[in-house]
Amino acid sequence: MQPLVATTAAELRAITKNASIALTPTMGALHEGHLSLIKQAKKLADINVVSIYVNPLQFGENEDFDSYPRDLSADCDKLRDLADVVFAPQDLYVTPQTVRLALPPLADELCGHFRPGFFQGVATVVCKLFNSISPQTAVFGLKDFQQTHIIRLLTAQLNFNIDIVAAPIVRETDGLAMSSRNIYLHPAERAQAILLPQTLQMAAKQIMEGVPPAQAAAAAAASLTQNNFVVDYVEARDYSTLGAPIGERIILLAAVKLGKTRLIDNIECVLPTAAKTAPNF
Ligand code: AMP
Repeated sequence: MQPLVATTAAELRAITKNASIALTPTMGALHEGHLSLIKQAKKLADINVVSIYVNPLQFGENEDFDSYPRDLSADCDKLRDLADVVFAPQDLYVTPQTVRLALPPLADELCGHFRPGFFQGVATVVCKLFNSISPQTAVFGLKDFQQTHIIRLLTAQLNFNIDIVAAPIVRETDGLAMSSRNIYLHPAERAQAILLPQTLQMAAKQIMEGVPPAQAAAAAAASLTQNNFVVDYVEARDYSTLGAPIGERIILLAAVKLGKTRLIDNIECVLPTAAKTAPNF
């Protein structure tokens, strides 16, 4: 069955009534990465809701808000027999939207350093979606590792009674993490893009073999730069806190630009002593 489309919270509530809801927030242009989250969500509640909203607040002035791919009817086709309802609000903001969330310093690090205001935009829209939809569960991708981490923090610290589920990265067969922005890549850039996961994988192997994480990350950044990527960052952080990599479970995160396209990726490194005991995220 084709999903129903609700464009206001009132319409959505009329459909969902008191049923339990699993929510997967997206900006549309759905691909297999999104669909894997939505499949997981389907098992977690009575009604499977997918939100599709290109959130203006998380785009910088010179970013791709206007050109971001939008095709609601193609997205609804992909959600056939998978989602019950698509929540596609015209707009979620009031004018003027003067209330802002204050986020911890982590929101100004990594991607937040290179995209000022990005996580505040994400956090604001996620709060609006949570309050409009009242899901029991919400599914986010580990592709956006820092984002999922910050959403966990805000859910806990603002007392949302919502289970946050983190789903693994879905990759193309050659290893490139799926992204709605991959369509921006010219063929030569697309071919080159696989060096990002390959370089991260090599650095992760070095870390797991005992090379200091910061050294492996710096070598990966240098190698990517040499291969014509503009590197925003390659950093090794603690998997659970996203602080300095002091634990045995480390996450290696990277953001690069290839031409006009910004790509992010990450890979987990479990140090040998932690391998037997590491819990799942
Ligand atoms: P977006 O539409 O880019 O805002 O992404 C919506 C959700 O899908 C976020 O929670 C992303 O982390 C997740 N997502 C995007 N791409 C992937 C992927 N390749 N694998 C897993 N999750 C993904």
